[in-house]
Amino acid sequence: MYDIKTIVCPVDFSPGSDRAADHAVSIAQKYGAALHLLHIYPIDVFVGPDGGLTLTPEIVKRIVEEGTAGLEKIAAPHRSRGVDVHIDVRDGIPAEEIVRHAERLKADLIVVGTHGRTGLSRMLVGSVAERVVRTAHIPVLTVRLAD
Ligand code: AMP
Repeated sequence: MYDIKTIVCPVDFSPGSDRAADHAVSIAQKYGAALHLLHIYPIDVFVGPDGGLTLTPEIVKRIVEEGTAGLEKIAAPHRSRGVDVHIDVRDGIPAEEIVRHAERLKADLIVVGTHGRTGLSRMLVGSVAERVVRTAHIPVLTVRLAD
């Protein structure tokens, strides 16, 4: 039988990922599964075209702290209701790192929003979600933002 013990939900702090996280929490509750909220900060975004912008350890530290605080804010109310919620902040290319992290955790399910912060709302599915669906070897639930 197919069981769900570990769920990964990538969060970019957009309404789309908020909605995905709500679904992920519900599924985690129903299955008694561990839920891993994951935020990826794409390092290349912070480097200018001429390479002039340096990413100091202080800046990285602040990015990680802000990401951690944001995930904690989502996780805390669910934890207090007994849901097993973990948080992870990592750097990398979002779609690649989401799939890699799910593999690392031997996750059973990825719950991803169809839309994120990139604002490409005309598209049916955002580019990160699309790449995750295409490359993950485990089931992926895409959660559409309400119209
Ligand atoms: P997008 O492809 O940018 O429209 O994003 C679609 C979904 O991918 C979002 O709702 C999130 O679930 C996930 N996602 C996008 N970017 C990130 C990121 N940097 N870290 C974690 N999840 C992300």
